[in-house]
Amino acid sequence: MIIYDTKLEKKVELRPQDGRILRMYTCGPTVYNFAHIGNLRTYVFEDLLRRTILFSGMKLLHVMNLTDIDDKTIRSSMAAGVPLKVFTGEFAEAFFEDLRELNIQPAEIYPAATDHVEEMIGMIDSLLNKGYAYTSEEGNVFFRISKFKEYGALSHLCLDDLKVGASNRVNVDEYDKENLSDFALWKAYDPVNDGNVFWEAPWGRGRPGWHIECSAMAIKYLGETIDLHVGGIDNMFPHHENEIAQSEACTGKCFSRHWMHAYHLIVEGKKMSKSLKNFFTLRDLLSKGYTGREVRYLLLSTHYRTQLNFTFEGLDGARQTLRRIDDFIDRLENIRGKSENECDVTALVSELKKGFTEEIFDDLNISAAISHLFDFIRKVHSENDLGKIGEKQAQTVLAALKELDQVLGVMEREQVAIPKEVNQLFEEREVARKKKDWALSDKLRLQIEGLGFVVEDSRSGSCVKKKLD
Ligand code: AMP
Ligand code: ZN
Repeated sequence: MIIYDTKLEKKVELRPQDGRILRMYTCGPTVYNFAHIGNLRTYVFEDLLRRTILFSGMKLLHVMNLTDIDDKTIRSSMAAGVPLKVFTGEFAEAFFEDLRELNIQPAEIYPAATDHVEEMIGMIDSLLNKGYAYTSEEGNVFFRISKFKEYGALSHLCLDDLKVGASNRVNVDEYDKENLSDFALWKAYDPVNDGNVFWEAPWGRGRPGWHIECSAMAIKYLGETIDLHVGGIDNMFPHHENEIAQSEACTGKCFSRHWMHAYHLIVEGKKMSKSLKNFFTLRDLLSKGYTGREVRYLLLSTHYRTQLNFTFEGLDGARQTLRRIDDFIDRLENIRGKSENECDVTALVSELKKGFTEEIFDDLNISAAISHLFDFIRKVHSENDLGKIGEKQAQTVLAALKELDQVLGVMEREQVAIPKEVNQLFEEREVARKKKDWALSDKLRLQIEGLGFVVEDSRSGSCVKKKLD
């Protein structure tokens, strides 16, 4: 499997360093609000990556953190008058609901920052001892960027052009990308803004900065050198750059062998973000009648190293595409018995698998992989129109789709129960059709439609389905 490594700026082969288990860390949500679909684009990409790694036969240990302590979580929980852990717990639960709705496979471990403050204090202590960190008069601890010579290697910043140093310290979790600053590892307790959120450290009361959270949790669960670190492109600087600096200064080892970054989801040319107030949550889209599956398909089908421009036309397009797949599957599932003039689908199936896997293993080339799928569907359709697909071939095709869906995760539908009354009308219609009583058959079809279902007839038989909008 080949990936594009953002640090090396080239495609490389992905392999576990120990030859056994690939250790992957993905930056998780800040749980102070519902995720917007820009965030979810990154998580869907990470899911495609996860599934492709597993599909390639590698074993995987995947850790995604929950940022449940930073400026935003504290500020918002205080504004809501709810204890921090309760406040973030509710949004963490909403995040997991979104993942389920989007058929995103769970990571092996979801550590929360507040459960790992001890490990963070340990790292900061070691950075202080090694001279990579210093305390300010107010009790903050800052990382000394000028001492870490490789700073900027991930995001390919030219440090000479940027001002480096303590004169430019930053004590918030987000800051202007143009400003290269000594960043906070620890923030001194501020009784006005921090409420009752603090921990005791050898250098004073306070709480960890955002960046150290990921380093401490990645190292705890995946070791000092991990195989792959992933996130959205906005995380590259300063967040990932800072993660590298703190971790490598602390351990003296390479922090992550590979880096991957997903490009943004944009709306009318601008990054979708909470601060720009141009965002939709998954709930917004579900309440407009779209399904998680449709949203997943939309987010999945643009290559992760391309910006994805979100539009409702795009979402309607995803719906249409899924209907074509569903329709294809329905037809195959309804084929019974042998056909008189059966074709051999095995060559088509192996052509599909070869084309699909070659593309998906090439840095998740999703558009080309999907176009192999649609070529295949077209070809099988035309064989079926010629009456050449019997039950056995249909089952072979369905098994191939199921196999590829381990990667895509878009083919399973929620099963709609067909009400008894509809089933009965359908059976009566089948009898009428056998007797060639077309008038009665049409009447029954209309009755079925009146109940919100449709009958589809094809050479290989009829079936009844829920009527779609
Ligand atoms: P946050 O909850 O802000 O820490 O972001 C969670 C993840 O979503 C990070 O990996 C971000 O890089 C990513 N992200 C934020 N905004 C967007 C966007 N508009 N498109 C894609 N990914 C995004
Ligand atoms: Zn992170």
